Amino acid sequence: MSFDPRSVPIRPDELAGRVIAVTGASDGIGRAVALACAAHGAEVVLIGRTPGKLASVHAIIEAGGAGGASAAVLDLETAVARDYDALAAAILERYARLDGLVHNAAILGMLTPIEHYDVPTWCRVLHVNLTAAFALTQVLLPLLKVSRDASVLFTTSNVGRRGRAYWGAYAVSKFGIEGLTQTLAAELESAGTVRVNAVNPGRARTRMRRQAFPAEELETLPLPETLTSPYLALLGSAARGVTGMSFDCQPSR
Ligand code: NDP
Repeated sequence: MSFDPRSVPIRPDELAGRVIAVTGASDGIGRAVALACAAHGAEVVLIGRTPGKLASVHAIIEAGGAGGASAAVLDLETAVARDYDALAAAILERYARLDGLVHNAAILGMLTPIEHYDVPTWCRVLHVNLTAAFALTQVLLPLLKVSRDASVLFTTSNVGRRGRAYWGAYAVSKFGIEGLTQTLAAELESAGTVRVNAVNPGRARTRMRRQAFPAEELETLPLPETLTSPYLALLGSAARGVTGMSFDCQPSR
């Protein structure tokens, strides 16, 4: 099946009535995706580690979004089972289901040869970028299964598809994300109600990009707000039946 989320026309009420959780909703691409989801009618669960930043996104949605929002503080580096369970219980109590889950939060770690890569940093990056996304998916799966048409999105990157020198744990975590996407999609495909895909935003004007390329002119890069429509397409009903795929938000360079 050929499906390109970049060419799906997005209706103003594309996500009306859908409950969508977004990790890393406090900044960068996750913030833009969360705001776009709310603007298109979704109830958004904003997940992040910095309460003040989450509160400001929450306030913007409450002031002007077509949908509503709630905020949940979850530090993916330090969260333990009871923190994940508490989040799932809160979503169950408030919404009784989940129609979308966007795994967006990630850290870069360091750009350095594998030969010299700091082992604790390696573990931290793999944990935040991959293991925490697995754990969060696992705990929220019962709520996703309540939905008649749920969409799980993992965030990938070019360096998670083809190895590139010095990208270390970040690249390996994104290779893991691609594998997790395919594995989970295959497990859920026959039931047909939870679809699982990966999405690569491509270069964007964010803090992470600045960290990776400090000398780059950030102004030349697309703003996160301009990259959200493929996310909306993959979260909405147009992508029903699409699963186990990895998509790009921007043309390849
Ligand atoms: P940013 O650094 O701008 O934002 C990262 C987000 O993740 C922030 O909301 C941050 O929270 C959150 N986060 C980081 N660590 C944790 C943690 N321990 N617990 C909870 N939340 C955490 O990154 P981008 O917006 O650039 O990246 C978003 C996604 O897009 C990532 O998955 C990245 O790999 C991917 N990507 C980005 C590209 C780019 O050019 N920017 C290119 C390709 C892929 P806080 O605000 O509190 O720090």
